[in-house]
Amino acid sequence: MVRFVVVGGGAAGWITSHYLKRNLDCELTVVHKKENEIIGVGESTTPTILKVIEDVKSWQEDSKALIKYGIKFNDWLRPNSEWYHLFEDAFIKDDVDSIEYLRNEHPKIDTTTFNYYHGDFLVKCKNNIMDTKNNSIPGYGFQVQADKLGLACKNELEGEYNLIEEDVTTVLLDKHGIHSIGTENHILHADYFIDCSGFERILINRLSSFEPYEDMIANSYIVGKLDKHKKRPYTVTTALKNGWRWEIDTQDRTNAGYVYCDHLTSHEKAMEESGIEGEKKSFVSGKMKDIAIKNCISNGLAQSFIEPLEATSLMMTCYTVEKFVEIIKRGKRIETLNKIMDKFLKHTKEFVKYHYILSERKDSEWWEYWTEQKSDIQDFFERSLKNKRYCKKNDTLINHYNIASMMVGYECLTERKRI
Ligand SMILES: Cc1cc2nc3c(=O)[nH]c(=O)nc-3n(C[C@H](O)[C@H](O)[C@H](O)COP(=O)(O)OP(=O)(O)OC[C@H]3O[C@@H](n4cnc5c(N)ncnc54)[C@H](O)[C@@H]3O)c2cc1C
Repeated sequence: MVRFVVVGGGAAGWITSHYLKRNLDCELTVVHKKENEIIGVGESTTPTILKVIEDVKSWQEDSKALIKYGIKFNDWLRPNSEWYHLFEDAFIKDDVDSIEYLRNEHPKIDTTTFNYYHGDFLVKCKNNIMDTKNNSIPGYGFQVQADKLGLACKNELEGEYNLIEEDVTTVLLDKHGIHSIGTENHILHADYFIDCSGFERILINRLSSFEPYEDMIANSYIVGKLDKHKKRPYTVTTALKNGWRWEIDTQDRTNAGYVYCDHLTSHEKAMEESGIEGEKKSFVSGKMKDIAIKNCISNGLAQSFIEPLEATSLMMTCYTVEKFVEIIKRGKRIETLNKIMDKFLKHTKEFVKYHYILSERKDSEWWEYWTEQKSDIQDFFERSLKNKRYCKKNDTLINHYNIASMMVGYECLTERKRI
């Protein structure tokens, strides 16, 4: 029986543990700090979450989940503009793909018509309809309290794992990778060590190095809770002068946050601009050079973080563990995961970055920085058109539908004004 040690008791640690236990005959040990500090900001997910945790019975209630059909982008193209990025997909009609049809026949299509053409999610968003029946493919995601999502996965595994609530203080290496890890009272051996220790990267840092995404300049955030609780089936992001603000509605509260670059604005100004009061926190956008190496696999924030825009982090976590299990079942080398994840991360990062580059805003150093970035959006779109892939249920692909949706949202699918 294969032995796993998972280090980390945040959302990534428990999602990973749950999926491993449900899909492999394995012995599982989870280790996390006694003072279990986890990120746990109110989080927005993509449909992939359902594929990975659909058999966790109580998670929707436990994590106060509210359905999500997509993301609303306020003031991104220019002040007073809006568009929705929805979890719908392109489709084939009379042998023509919907995106190609729109591009050829209706080159001046606007974002609202584009969305109506692809399904009913925009109607649902505008009328606050939360309906899990008859939904489009790939389906819906959720807005959740991530700390509670992790706990729901943990509760479901009751009695199926060993738990050690102690700091990992030593990591002993050998030619196979990690020989053993040590805590105050334990020395642990395993066939595979999974690093879900968040930004500490306590295991993977010993075998590989972190590669920052130098071009992604957001590095700071503030989080808070809004007094007015709304229940909208979509996440709201609003572009401001020095960054962007999110609002995520869960069943019992609306969480808000602001993302910015502390080289370009101060914490005080960020609080004033966003209307959110809170402590300044930091992150570094980037990924591990090796996501999997020898007998160690990194997941969650220990593996990669692009930035919060488009809510891709839990999606990466789910995708990683799903692919890792496939690799183990097929008896492939675990380094195979590097190629798969590198490709997905690169593509997703490009998609996230275009939200900034395609904006017309120039009203601050922040927006001027993005204006100066090179745009190859047409090439990105044409590449994705050649590789036509459509979503399956509970799937998240950043495919030509998503890219076209973004290009229409930023008024550049056909006018090509910035290309
Ligand atoms: C501002 C912000 C907004 C975000 N918004 C979204 C979003 O909308 N959607 C989305 O999908 N994701 C979002 N994310 C990412 C999301 O928060 C994480 O992917 C998710 O919470 C998982 O975190 P984690 O479990 O990897 O790390 P953490 O929650 O940091 O957990 C780390 C764990 O490792 C343990 N640990 C650390 N060091 C040691 C040690 N030495 N010994 C033992 N244990 C140790 C800790 O005790 C803890 O249990 C956001 C992140 C940020 C920063």
